[in-house]
Amino acid sequence: MTVLTATGLGKRYRRSWALRDCTLAVPAGRVVALVGPNGAGKTTLLHLAVGLLTPTAGTVEVLGATVDRDRRTLARIAFLAQGKPLYDGFSVAEMLTFGRRMNPGWDQELAVTRLGELGIPLDRKVGKLSGGQQAQVALTVALAKRPELLLLDEPLANLDPLARHEVMRGLMAAVAETGMTVVLSSHVVSDLENTCDWLVVLNGGRVQVSGDIEELLTAHRLLTGPAELADGVAGRLTTVDDKRTDRQATLLVRADAPALDPRWTARPVGLEELVLAYLRRPDAATLPRPMLASTR
Ligand code: ATP
Repeated sequence: MTVLTATGLGKRYRRSWALRDCTLAVPAGRVVALVGPNGAGKTTLLHLAVGLLTPTAGTVEVLGATVDRDRRTLARIAFLAQGKPLYDGFSVAEMLTFGRRMNPGWDQELAVTRLGELGIPLDRKVGKLSGGQQAQVALTVALAKRPELLLLDEPLANLDPLARHEVMRGLMAAVAETGMTVVLSSHVVSDLENTCDWLVVLNGGRVQVSGDIEELLTAHRLLTGPAELADGVAGRLTTVDDKRTDRQATLLVRADAPALDPRWTARPVGLEELVLAYLRRPDAATLPRPMLASTR
């Protein structure tokens, strides 16, 4: 089953496209890394998915429905917006009461148990908690909704490495227990490396690559060889990244076991290398761009 489907999805602000021609299909049960630099369109994609924005072009469906047409879908998804959206003047307990009133499927026991395990006092004002604790409260509120799809916009921003690790650990424990689908955005690939199994790279409002992380890593190779042979290889294989000096060429190509002249070496790529290669592609980062008449 596909949990998040975007087809030709686009969002335009005045003359600039924040997201353009976005076509994606994320299967159920995946933990998706939505990565890209600042301004890539990550927040825009998430807001379109949860119905906070309406598309300028195309469609987006979550759990088989368009959120703005079928409000019941909202009860099955949770969205944690950027910057830990909590009320500083509320106590943690009041935050939970708020969550319970807003969400019919609210699991108070889950929330209280989780916060107890984390040692976060229910009577403490949210504004008085550390950044890591606030992130955990926000995540707890999202999890207590018992969503089938959880979308998190930069949940690790401004956290120290230990807090980042703790938040990811809590999230992964919840995924293991419930099998829910998670989409989390970040511009730090290393935060997501060991936890995500699906990758979506956005840049300049466009999807650069999307797919199962294992399959993507298996399907790419980093080739190193003599610069004078590089044009031939680059012309024959799908080249994602091409770096050359006078003597040597380093090509990141889409091919699992390319047949090559013995002067080339081929090695597997890591996730960060793969993401950077797609971000460096010449057609990447071309937005904001003027609106094109044909896309209206
Ligand atoms: P970040 O990592 O900084 O949060 P992002 O990948 O989430 O970035 P978006 O916030 O989706 O990126 O923004 C994509 C583009 O759309 C940017 O160029 C941004 O300036 C533009 N944009 C976003 N919201 C608006 C708005 N309300 N009005 C005009 N332009 C906007």
